[in-house]
Amino acid sequence: MRTVLEVDGLFDGTTAMSDAAIVLEDAGGSAPGREATITWVGKRSRAPRTPKGERSRALEAAARFVVPGMVNCHCHLTLDGSASFETEVRQDDALATIKAFKNARAALRAGVTTVRDLGANGTMVIALGAAIERGVVEGPRVVAAGRGITTTGGHGGEVGRVCDGADEVRRGTREQIAAGATVVKIFSTGGVLGEGAGPDLAPLTPDETRAAVEEAHKAGLRITTHAHGAEGMRIAAEAGVDSIEHCTLLDQRTIRVIKERDIALVPTFAALRSILDNADKLTERVLERTRTVAAKHQEGVRAAHRAGVRIAAGTDAGTPFNVHERFALELGYLKEIGMTAEEALAAATSRAADVVGRPKAGRIAPGAHADLVFIDGDPLADLDVLLAPKAVWIRGVPAAP
Ligand SMILES: [Zn+2]
Repeated sequence: MRTVLEVDGLFDGTTAMSDAAIVLEDAGGSAPGREATITWVGKRSRAPRTPKGERSRALEAAARFVVPGMVNCHCHLTLDGSASFETEVRQDDALATIKAFKNARAALRAGVTTVRDLGANGTMVIALGAAIERGVVEGPRVVAAGRGITTTGGHGGEVGRVCDGADEVRRGTREQIAAGATVVKIFSTGGVLGEGAGPDLAPLTPDETRAAVEEAHKAGLRITTHAHGAEGMRIAAEAGVDSIEHCTLLDQRTIRVIKERDIALVPTFAALRSILDNADKLTERVLERTRTVAAKHQEGVRAAHRAGVRIAAGTDAGTPFNVHERFALELGYLKEIGMTAEEALAAATSRAADVVGRPKAGRIAPGAHADLVFIDGDPLADLDVLLAPKAVWIRGVPAAP
């Protein structure tokens, strides 16, 4: 059946249009994989007529504006954003699984219809993604890494697969792929949170990094890395990763390497912001690490954006006070480093979809997924309207409120 939706304003993933219509076509039935897709988008006055004998319905849109379902390039569904990261990452698998289900739903209701989970303490998010695909439970589309690949004493050791040496990295990466991972995550540098190495250190060697890149690409998967320090970013870029998460301490030399290789950046500003906004509730050690890097972070990403590096939205949701339903805050942070509202919204939709390797997501175009977010105001005039969607559609149907 054909569904026609009319709206006052629409953002298709790259540009805006007024007085628009979207045509959705569903293949009929509710079997997995038989979801509706977008078949036409354009000016309301030019919407195609329904052929004789075919059924069609005109639906009143839930709000005046519509944007594509948003894509969070970096989250941890198993984490709630509790103040003590060190305690939360040590939770048992059963609790982590329940939280993943809850947070996936929270993200979906907030307009995030695709998430990329970059590290859990097991295979629970991979399993959740598969269950959602099969229609067992409602939720966003999930791209999941399983465990992240780290080193002895490295960041993420609490939940990651600890590997030392290229052979061990190869084995660790293969384990995630065999378990059903749809992206590979590595840790190139130390971190701001957690008990491992600090942000400047680059424990993962070029050899180890190349081993992970090779295994990921051989399996047809993207590989992304956690990296704060410039040296770690360069090692990862030269080894062939597809994107870099956090990219906190960028310098001109590193930006050049990243630009030359067309590597995307996911700065996850929300992670540092959530820590700084809740300074009174955190330990001095975490605060001290955060304050040292925050200003440099903005400056570096601003320079990368100016140099034409691709930047996509991800929040690292699950880190302290950084909850899954507040994804849209990241768009405001991207605006602060010099993006226009249009660029920020593209970074959270079409560009993010490309970065996570799901080009049918994040756009309103023929052939794209019918994942839609309805809002009451023009998001290009005020990005904050995206924090409170009126309705969210996933796979062509409204998500449960
Ligand atoms: Zn993360």
